[in-house]
Amino acid sequence: MPPNKKPSKLECVSRALRTLSAGNHTLLRTSDEQELLREMCRVITEQGGYHLACVGYAQNDENKSIQWMECAGINKEHLQELVPSWAASDSGQTAFSTAVSTGKPSIVRHVLADSAYTTPAYARLMEFAKASGYASVAAFPLQLEGEILGAIVIAAADPDGFDDEELKLLNELADDLAYGIGGLRMQVKHRKAQEAIAHLAYHDSLTDLPNRTYLHKRLEEAIQLAKHQHCPLALLYFEVGQFHKINEILGHLSGDQLIQQLAQRLVEAAKPDKFLARVGEAAFVLLLPFTGADGAAREAGRFLEVLHEPVEISGLTIDAPVSAGIALFPGHGTDAEALLRRANAAVDKAKPARGSYAFYQGQEQENARRLKLVSELQRAIERNELRLYCQPKVAIASRQISGAEALVRWEHPLDGPINPGEFIKLAEQAALITPLTNWVLDAAFRQGYVWYEAGVRRPLSVNLSAHDLHDIRLIERIQGLFSTWGLPPELIHFEITESALMEDPKTALDTLARLKELDVELYIDDFGTGYSSLSYLQKLPVDWIKIDQSFVMPMTESRDSASIVRSTIEMGHNLGLRVVAEGVESQAQWDQLAAWGCDVAQGFLVGKPMPTDAFDDWEAQWSRAQA
Ligand code: C2E
Ligand code: MG
Ligand code: MG
Repeated sequence: MPPNKKPSKLECVSRALRTLSAGNHTLLRTSDEQELLREMCRVITEQGGYHLACVGYAQNDENKSIQWMECAGINKEHLQELVPSWAASDSGQTAFSTAVSTGKPSIVRHVLADSAYTTPAYARLMEFAKASGYASVAAFPLQLEGEILGAIVIAAADPDGFDDEELKLLNELADDLAYGIGGLRMQVKHRKAQEAIAHLAYHDSLTDLPNRTYLHKRLEEAIQLAKHQHCPLALLYFEVGQFHKINEILGHLSGDQLIQQLAQRLVEAAKPDKFLARVGEAAFVLLLPFTGADGAAREAGRFLEVLHEPVEISGLTIDAPVSAGIALFPGHGTDAEALLRRANAAVDKAKPARGSYAFYQGQEQENARRLKLVSELQRAIERNELRLYCQPKVAIASRQISGAEALVRWEHPLDGPINPGEFIKLAEQAALITPLTNWVLDAAFRQGYVWYEAGVRRPLSVNLSAHDLHDIRLIERIQGLFSTWGLPPELIHFEITESALMEDPKTALDTLARLKELDVELYIDDFGTGYSSLSYLQKLPVDWIKIDQSFVMPMTESRDSASIVRSTIEMGHNLGLRVVAEGVESQAQWDQLAAWGCDVAQGFLVGKPMPTDAFDDWEAQWSRAQA
């Protein structure tokens, strides 16, 4: 269109519609605020054919300055110089400042002829309008959550541009843009919150050091690498002796300060790149990849030296007796849990001589720790110090929550969380499994009732161990619990590991048959690890097979695992059983399992085990994500 000619109504509306549609496209595509603004300005000039477009954010500072964010058809720096402020001057105001101050679109038609702009204050702006050839300007406020963020300014070459219909459409574009900015900012906030949550999950709040969970992850990775490269690795466990006494005498606040100061020294000594974690109330672990006995001893000596200096707390000088235990890969253990446990066990040997270190010395230490744990576990059961966690199970095809697994947790007051794999084995060996199972059953029925009463029909499955299958009072107890809580049988399921079934197949079959008489659903857990025969399987009155995570986790990398998973699903279905895959950590696993018709997934991809009272929030979040 030649300049200075008034466009027809149709032309006006059609360029605005083009802009609106291209603008909406941009909104959907961009994931970054700056990029969104840049693209929007580009779309307005290129697709809409307007002369120029720019977005400015109004600052609420003393000068009411404008931060010009993006422009098309004009140089940003030049604009910043020409229109640095949205304050009204003696001689009037620009379209931008009117839009920002009133919250309404502002239009100046016939820019060059408008008497308001003939004052010297606008001389440079007018010069620019003349030189660049625009004749009308409209500014649209960008409103975000009731506040005015700034405005988008659009200029047209024609002196009488922007008819009413066109203005309406462009105002809509500005509203959409503001909405898009709001959405992107919300995403940034969300991401930050998630990062903060992830940080909390992996760090200790007192020292901000990595916590036990984080250490576990890093240690497992380091072990994989060490295995791959045939290199040793050392784990140094530092413990402050008598910490309880220090706490008792000086108070918890001073105890915390002591830990913080020691942590600070360790952090300094671990620079630049050694991995250090706080793993218990008064315990730290240092991970030393590619390090054997010599290197470990040297580092233990160096760190203990640093910790040896007395600590000043509230004017008092305290000697903190720190000792270290060392465990080496592969000599003292080949998995994370064992190494950690053994490095911890070794500390006791070092304790008598303060500030010394000791290497792990074998079974004797393990036994001592076990004995200690057994008596503490007994107390923990009696004092109700265990916690019930549950982990969601989700039907793969519908993505609906199909139930949860009850998993017991023990947070040792000094040693922190004890791995269930370890303490359940201990409980089995020490004849503590019956009280432990009873505790879990009580907790699971109570939780089942809480959900049932709230109208949530969410089956909760309880793990039974091999010893439970021999407990002659088990069935009676479960029956009693059903009567006590009045729960329908379909709300409590039971999982029995394949290896437990195989320990004594006859008794197992017998107990399962009696459990089945209660009308509950039964699972074979950790399937694939117990070598049961097909003929035995056929006899078992079970409803579900749970494929062990050791097959599921590597299934996307290992062909062998993939074929085991696939054939287990097929075999299960052929036997009329439903199949759960456990240890689903990635989308790739999920997709593969879905393609093979696996019924249910359980794993970190869906949700980690969580305290029972966190489940409803998790469910709401999961359901929102599916919507
Ligand atoms: P399980 O019954 O096979 O339970 C599943 C275990 O796999 C849980 O470990 C769970 O946290 C873990 N897991 C689930 N999804 C994933 C994943 O995606 N990635 C990884 N890396 N792990 C995943 P947890 O809670 O440590 O329990 C270990 C075992 O201890 C259980 O294996 C079960 O055999 C036993 N256990 C736990 N609670 C109880 C209980 O109350 N009674 C009995 N008898 N045994 C229990
Ligand atoms: Mg289980
Ligand atoms: Mg399992």
